[in-house]
Amino acid sequence: MAFSRTLSVLGSTGSIGRQTLDVARCAGYAVAGLAFGHNVDLAEEQIRAFHPRYVATPDEAVAAELRARIADLQPAVTVESGEDAVLTAAALPEADTVVLAVVGIAALKPTLAAVQAGKRIALANKEALVCAGELVMNLAREKRVPILPVDSEHSAIFQCLISRNPEEPTDAFSVSAYSRRDIERLILTASGGPFFGMDREALSRVTRADALRHPTWNMGAKITIDSASMMNKGLEVIEAMRLYDVPADRISVMVHRESIVHSLVEFRDGSILAQLGCPDMRVPIQYAITWPEHTPGPAKRLDLLHCKPITFQQPDLGNFRCLALGFQCAKEGGTSTAILNGANEAAVALFLEDRISFLDIPKLIEETLNRVEVRQHPSLEEIFAADRSARAAVLDMTR
Ligand code: NDP
Ligand code: MG
Repeated sequence: MAFSRTLSVLGSTGSIGRQTLDVARCAGYAVAGLAFGHNVDLAEEQIRAFHPRYVATPDEAVAAELRARIADLQPAVTVESGEDAVLTAAALPEADTVVLAVVGIAALKPTLAAVQAGKRIALANKEALVCAGELVMNLAREKRVPILPVDSEHSAIFQCLISRNPEEPTDAFSVSAYSRRDIERLILTASGGPFFGMDREALSRVTRADALRHPTWNMGAKITIDSASMMNKGLEVIEAMRLYDVPADRISVMVHRESIVHSLVEFRDGSILAQLGCPDMRVPIQYAITWPEHTPGPAKRLDLLHCKPITFQQPDLGNFRCLALGFQCAKEGGTSTAILNGANEAAVALFLEDRISFLDIPKLIEETLNRVEVRQHPSLEEIFAADRSARAAVLDMTR
């Protein structure tokens, strides 16, 4: 094999985790570690297929059941539980690449642990960068660890930037530093989600089932709701700002219903670069693992002669308040982004339990941003405190 990697996949039973293992199976990568939440059936299947040495879950009851189920395996697989076990899976000595596909702020400590351990980071999770982008990126710079984005828009931007310096793709930071001064703006594309074009009246009547029906991407429940509310794009503006160190006023969002152009970079001279492809997350997942190489993979090819005409439209910031709040917090910085994220995670969880309406999501987030004090250049403790305060505010308003 021309190319080899040993992965640890955190969030292996989720949408990105499953597609990562699909890429690993096709390319023949070794899998040293897995971490997951509660899906014991799928975890067992993955362990039998990939024989990792170490498996982690936060929940001891889940770990106990899994241990009993795989007791026949030789060599034995170590299954441990608790937050520390997930951190161990993030720093396994034999893994060269850690795929961060845990959802939510729960990925923040594992991300820091993987960076600290000097691993190549294939980062699908966006909430860690939204909450603690400065801390994560500063540690990555200090450790000379490349953070390779899996999020399709950020992978697209990365590919547009890296093509500026193909001779020396030695690390992600020198590439973006080289290009940054030439950037006029980053243009993130958005599918617009299932509710594109609706006004407030129509949005007030949408249900959980409507919101879970995404037109293009098949994703986990939380990000699917974020896509429907356009909070996903708000989080992605902050993610792009942190990854590429570009101020929020140089980032724009365009609705592109066809999901063929994954994002664009406009340079100072008016030249625009874009990355195109079929909407298949296995492409950015694979590139984060193989960068700087583009290796053969399982994804379907884009047929330029038969694909839909490519269109762009302005997003509706008035009816999709979450995107406006994302821009607002990107500009404000400090703990505002952790407050935004914590309030959103709490509100989305309530919406998924049918306890609040769709339009309550932006309302609760906005009110939380008014209630919780923002601190600039926060420590990790201050970021977790902001997250807790935001969640408490949402629960307080919905009791
Ligand atoms: P899913 O909900 O499908 O998967 C989340 C995964 O995280 C599951 O394996 C879950 O385990 C696991 N998990 C949850 N909490 C913990 C924890 N505390 N410790 C260990 N594992 C945990 O989400 P997605 O795969 O859709 O998304 C993952 C991340 O990637 C998100 O941050 C999302 O924003 C981002 N992303 C996703 C995209 C997509 O296409 N899906 C696109 C771009 C970004 P279990 O299910 O077993 O409980
Ligand atoms: Mg995305």
